[in-house]
Amino acid sequence: MITYHCPVCNKVSRKGALDLARHMLGRGDKVHREWVNSKGFKYSEILASQFNSFGGNAYKELAAVIERETRVDEPDPIAGAKPIVVKKPEREIEGQEA
Ligand SMILES: [Zn+2]
Repeated sequence: MITYHCPVCNKVSRKGALDLARHMLGRGDKVHREWVNSKGFKYSEILASQFNSFGGNAYKELAAVIERETRVDEPDPIAGAKPIVVKKPEREIEGQEA
């Protein structure tokens, strides 16, 4: 399963890079803004471009960076989600000693 991990707050998105891009802009706090800016984007410009055309080019470019840098290929999420429980016998068998 492909997941995307926010490099700032470790939020995990299973929906895709665009979803994580939306998360980063949606948070809008200092650490997320700085990450976006550190990738050569201008946070404020991407935010502004949303109003002109939702999912505009700047947005897609940011998503492409997120795709490259935060993508995690997780092996077998179903097996990983369930911890293996070792069952104890319900009760000790009594009178086993002859
Ligand atoms: Zn985040």
